Amino acid sequence: MALLIDIKHPEWMKDEELRAELLHFYPEADIRTGNDPGDPAEIEMLTVSSYFPGEALQYPNLKVIQKTGAGVNNILADQELPESVQVARLQTSTSGVEMAEYALAFVLQEQRHLRQYQTQQTRSEWNSYPPRKAADTTVAVLGLGRIGLLVAQRFIDNDFKVVGWSRSLKDIPGVECYAGEDGLPAALEFADYVVSVLPSTPQTRGMFNSGVFKSFNPLAFFINLGRGDQVNETDLMQALDDDLLAGAILDVMSIEPLPADNPMWLHPKIQLTPHVSGYHLGDAIFDIADNYRRLQNGEPLLNLVDIERGY
Ligand code: NDP
Repeated sequence: MALLIDIKHPEWMKDEELRAELLHFYPEADIRTGNDPGDPAEIEMLTVSSYFPGEALQYPNLKVIQKTGAGVNNILADQELPESVQVARLQTSTSGVEMAEYALAFVLQEQRHLRQYQTQQTRSEWNSYPPRKAADTTVAVLGLGRIGLLVAQRFIDNDFKVVGWSRSLKDIPGVECYAGEDGLPAALEFADYVVSVLPSTPQTRGMFNSGVFKSFNPLAFFINLGRGDQVNETDLMQALDDDLLAGAILDVMSIEPLPADNPMWLHPKIQLTPHVSGYHLGDAIFDIADNYRRLQNGEPLLNLVDIERGY
């Protein structure tokens, strides 16, 4: 039984380096890398970051696909994914903390008018603006899973008012919770910042459209850290042009890398980052070695995805 690491993003993580780290944890493991996979019939576990449709079919004895992250939408969207293949994700304690920090950084940038001051400096202008008080500012966190809870807590710790939205209703100290499609307008209504950390599922894909942008507070900033396919990007640009919301900070886009001629690059109310809000995997990578061991021993795997639910 072999584990094949085929990340496909060497600029982010090299297969050989992950292999070395996992072997340190589990020296007896048969771990191979994308450039030297050996006999495909021996591969029972596949670790990927990007996944292409039909990839699972290359390995006739594949039992589990382990994502090096949390978003498994591309794997689950594969029409040819055999039913016998389980899908596991990684827990996100390290990347979730980074995502909370990212969201806070952009919120504080607006609270303290840092973009205006940067522009003013280019013109040698001396104008001051009052900082917005955290206690008078509401942050809506969409998705209250592993990452959403870390994001919500970060804003609570910084004295913001926090509302949250999820599929099932939660009871989280310090968070005014809403759930389901009917609960979304109320979660958005008074939010000054809307931070989305939702997974991409059939229910969430395309959900940020012209109808939903009408529920935004016109002064709100939308910070999307979940997945780009949740946003109708044409509707977003129109909503920004129509002042239905004040700005958008997008770490994820429907096409990545975003093509150079995409109009979002130049939209004055959009700030883009190249899918970096959650970057490091931290100790979560050792769950890959643990899942390999569990697979070998016939034990239940860690962080299995509910394929029906889509996350
Ligand atoms: P979890 O599975 O722990 O949480 C998902 C949350 O979304 C849950 O609260 C769930 O509700 C909620 N949710 C799912 N579907 C709906 C829906 N239809 N309506 C309302 N709420 C819904 O996931 P994580 O927090 O670990 O990760 C979330 C996503 O973040 C990942 O799927 C990935 O796409 C993205 N991500 C982005 C990264 C980046 O760098 N930009 C890095 C890592 C992850 P309930 O609690 O009721 O089930």
